[in-house]
Amino acid sequence: MSPARPPTRDAVASPAVPLTLLSGGDTVLPGDTPDPDGPTPPREGTGRRGKPPRHLADLDLAGRRAAVADLGEPSFRAVQLSKHFFGRYTEHPDDMTDLPRTSRAALAGALLPALLTAERELSCDDGTTRKTLWRAFDGALVESVLMRYPDRVTMCVSSQAGCGMACPFCATGQAGLTRNLSTAEIVAQVVAGARLLADGQIPDAPARGSDDPPKPARVSNVVFMGMGEPLANYANVVNAVRRLTDPVPEGMGISQRSVTVSTVGLVPAIAKLAAEGLSVTLAVSLHAPDDELRDTLVPVNRRWQVAEVLDAAWDYAAVTGRRVSIEYALIKDINDQAWRADLLGSLLAGRLVHVNLIPLNPTPGSKWTASRPGAQREFVRRLEAHGVPVTVRDTRGREIDGACGQLAASASPPASAAPLLSARPSASPPASASPPASASPPASASPPASARPS
Ligand code: SAH
Repeated sequence: MSPARPPTRDAVASPAVPLTLLSGGDTVLPGDTPDPDGPTPPREGTGRRGKPPRHLADLDLAGRRAAVADLGEPSFRAVQLSKHFFGRYTEHPDDMTDLPRTSRAALAGALLPALLTAERELSCDDGTTRKTLWRAFDGALVESVLMRYPDRVTMCVSSQAGCGMACPFCATGQAGLTRNLSTAEIVAQVVAGARLLADGQIPDAPARGSDDPPKPARVSNVVFMGMGEPLANYANVVNAVRRLTDPVPEGMGISQRSVTVSTVGLVPAIAKLAAEGLSVTLAVSLHAPDDELRDTLVPVNRRWQVAEVLDAAWDYAAVTGRRVSIEYALIKDINDQAWRADLLGSLLAGRLVHVNLIPLNPTPGSKWTASRPGAQREFVRRLEAHGVPVTVRDTRGREIDGACGQLAASASPPASAAPLLSARPSASPPASASPPASASPPASASPPASARPS
C-alpha cells in the first residue's frame, strides 16, 4: 500500500481524480454495505425511482419459502417455482402444470416478474454469437452476449447499467454509471441465454475435429465482462454468483470454476471476494504495467496502484488456488511498446497468472486503434520469454458492436432514461475517448526512468 495514497474515500473524492464514481451517491464503493436485495436508489434528477421488482432470484431458498408462505401457499411451492426458473428457464404460469391453476398467476406474479425486455438482438458468427440489448423496468439499458463454441457456451453479463470507472477506451466508461443491477437482473441475463440454447435458437459452433467433446446446449461459463464494474456492486454480484452456481433448485448449477469476475482492481473488494469461499476466476483489467500510464487508462489506479492491485491478485490466487487472469487491451502506440511487455513480464513472472491480450475494439470517435500485428506478436513473444502464459482473445462480436457498452451507447434512450451519451461532468475524462495528454505517445513511448532497463 503506497503511503502517498491512503485508501480513504476522501482521497478518491479529491477533485484531482477524474472519476465519475465520485460525483454521484449511487456507486457502491468497496467497504460500503449495499442493500443485498437490490441496487442503491438512482441519483436525483434521472427521473428513475425505486428498485427493480423483487424476484425469486434475489432470494435464497429460505427467503423464497417465506415469500411463498406470505402469499398463503405451502412453502414447497418455492422449490417448484425455483425448478421452473433455474432448471427449465420458464417464467410463464401456463408452463407450471405442477402448480394448481388457481395459484399459478399469483405465485408467478409475485416471484417471477419480468425484469428485462429484449430491446434489440444481434447475431453474428453464423448465429453462434448473440448479443442482446435489454431494457430494465426503469428504462436502463444493459447488454449481454452469448458465445457458443464447440466445447462450451459463455455468457458475458452486465453487473451495472453504465459504469463509474471512466476508462477512456471503453464505451461504457464514457457514459458514467446509471445504477447497480439487482441480483435477479444479473441472473436473468444468464437464464435468458440458457433459454435460447434450450429452445434450439443457437446453432452448434463448427467443431474442429471429430474427437471434440460433446457439445453442451447449456450455459457452461459466465464472465462478468459486460457493462459495469462488478466489484462496485459487490453484494448483488456475489449473490448472483451463488445463484448461478448453486445446484437446482437453489440456483442454476453452473460450476464456480467456470465463472470469471473481471475488475478494474478495487483492492478491498478483491480481498473480500477471496474470503467468500468461492472458486471463481478473478480477472484484473491491468492494461498498463506502470502507474503513469495506468492512471490515465484505468483512472481508479490513482487510488489503488499497480503494485497494490497485483498484490491483491496474488493473495486471491493463494487463497483460492485459482490462476488469475490479467486483461490487457493492446492499444497502438499507447501501451504496446516492447519495454512495457518486458515490464509486465517481470511483474508477472513466476506467478499463478495468465495474460489475456485484447486487441482494442475502438469506440466510436476514438483516436485509439488496435496494435499493429507485429507489435502484438512482439508483445506476446516478450511475455512468453518471461515464462508468462499468454493468449490473444478472439474478437467475437466485433461486427455487432461487441465491445463493452457499444450497443447501449448507440441505442436511443427512452424519454424517461438518462441519456447514455450525455455530456460528461467536468470532472470526467474527455468524452471523445481521445488519449489524455499524459497518455499520448510522446509522453508514454519511453519508460519512466525507474522502469528502463539498466
Ligand atoms: N469493469 C470490469 C469489466 C469490464 S469489461 C473490468 O474493468 O474489468 C471487460 C474487459 O473489457 C475489461 O478488461 C475492459 O477493460 C475491456 N474493454 C473495455 N472496452 C474495451 C475496448 N474498447 N477494447 C478492448 N477491451 C475493452
